[in-house]
Amino acid sequence: MNITIVGTGYVGLVSGACFSEMGSTVTCVDVDEQKIENLKKGILPIYEPGLENLVIENHKEGLLRFTTSLESAAQECDVFFIAVGTPPDEDGSADLQYVLQVARNIGRVINSYTVIVDKSTVPVGTADKVKKVVQESLDKRGSDLEFDVVSNPEFLKEGAAVNDFLSPDRIIVGCDSPRAIKLMKRLYAPFSRNRDKLITMKVRDAEMTKYAVNSMLATKISFMNEMATICERLGVDVENVRKGIGSDQRIGYSFIYPGCGYGGSCFPKDVNALIRTSRDMGVEPHVLASVARRNSLQKEVLGNKIKERFGNDLCGKIFCIWGLSFKPGTDDMREAPAIVLINELVAAGATVHAYDPVAMTQAVGEFSPSFFQENRLRLFKTPYDALVDTDALVLVTEWKTFRQPAFQAMAKVMRQQILFDGRNLYDPGEVQEHGFEYHGIGRNFGG
Ligand code: NAD
Repeated sequence: MNITIVGTGYVGLVSGACFSEMGSTVTCVDVDEQKIENLKKGILPIYEPGLENLVIENHKEGLLRFTTSLESAAQECDVFFIAVGTPPDEDGSADLQYVLQVARNIGRVINSYTVIVDKSTVPVGTADKVKKVVQESLDKRGSDLEFDVVSNPEFLKEGAAVNDFLSPDRIIVGCDSPRAIKLMKRLYAPFSRNRDKLITMKVRDAEMTKYAVNSMLATKISFMNEMATICERLGVDVENVRKGIGSDQRIGYSFIYPGCGYGGSCFPKDVNALIRTSRDMGVEPHVLASVARRNSLQKEVLGNKIKERFGNDLCGKIFCIWGLSFKPGTDDMREAPAIVLINELVAAGATVHAYDPVAMTQAVGEFSPSFFQENRLRLFKTPYDALVDTDALVLVTEWKTFRQPAFQAMAKVMRQQILFDGRNLYDPGEVQEHGFEYHGIGRNFGG
């Protein structure tokens, strides 16, 4: 099959690489000329395990192409995927300008029956808007070409995106046209070899499913963060509570880790967008509003704990941050809790030494240039270099490489042996045996 994917970011590039891996011919289109030139040379714009190899190999085979020209991509194209960003608008709703711009352009270039797939996360009703602008473009051309619009939301997780795309839990296809459903079934057949993973439904139901999934996951995290806050006051160890409730099959172990808040390009944006949609419909979203509020508070938890321990004036103090990306396995810094924390520490007068296995280049753009010019924020090449002469280590992102650090060696190079564990990654008893003072999230341990 011939596929065109418009938007070559996390979702577009992973989808393109995976479809080409299954034998489809894929053209990835983006407005970012530099990104396209780099991709042609095998230079990827993002870090995602396993992706580089898929992109380079399939590009060599001629199955994966990159261009800035939608028109050239439209030649002999069966399916267009729209995978551009849907950033939050000022009122929290999803900004659809890029999606609709792409839809308008698709209407200008198609030359036979085409299926247009909304892969971006878009509010209920967007497929109708896409249909309208494509039709307007066709009308302007005096064309009576037929087309269908499908909602096919993406559920990949950054950090495991390739695997998620190649082995999805399910493939949601929202569509009213049997012709388009037939084509989508063919397209996804290679991903459904062991069982039929395609769930078909109405377009609006599919659009809503994506928001409901992300809101449910964000709710689990915020719920657990609230439990941690209550546990801390009660002298209860939330880690024991987590194990206790996770063993209940109705609850399960995933997404119930307390921590310093969720980030990324999806959960915060999608929860806020659903809040907006809900209010527009006259429904006050009590649960969702609390989920978002709890998460904002949670991103302040580490900064508050540090100030409780060291005082509000942090002048002269140096903190080592391990982990900058919003979660392990990605270089994505969007809405990362580390941003809130570092801004807070620097505002209180502290100096920050930071290390992340892959996100340091991305991190540079997230902070005021003055932080670097004045040496208030310094990035180090190894986690141990970042620790030298610091007053405390703050674990923010639970990369695997941080799981079992050499505490004894660390203690020797630090000014004070204090650890703030923003992800409850460590065993407090073991950390204390090495002479560290331990501060976790909702933890009560020892005596
Ligand atoms: P991204 O910002 O990484 O990539 C978007 C790409 O679209 C960029 O390369 C940009 O240059 C390009 N673009 C913008 N306007 C364009 C245009 N008119 N023509 C061609 N290209 C254009 O975004 P992303 O993280 O891949 O997310 C894309 C969508 O998928 C969003 O709606 C997001 O909510 C959703 N989504 C993201 C994830 C994720 O984990 N990142 C997972 C599921 C769904």
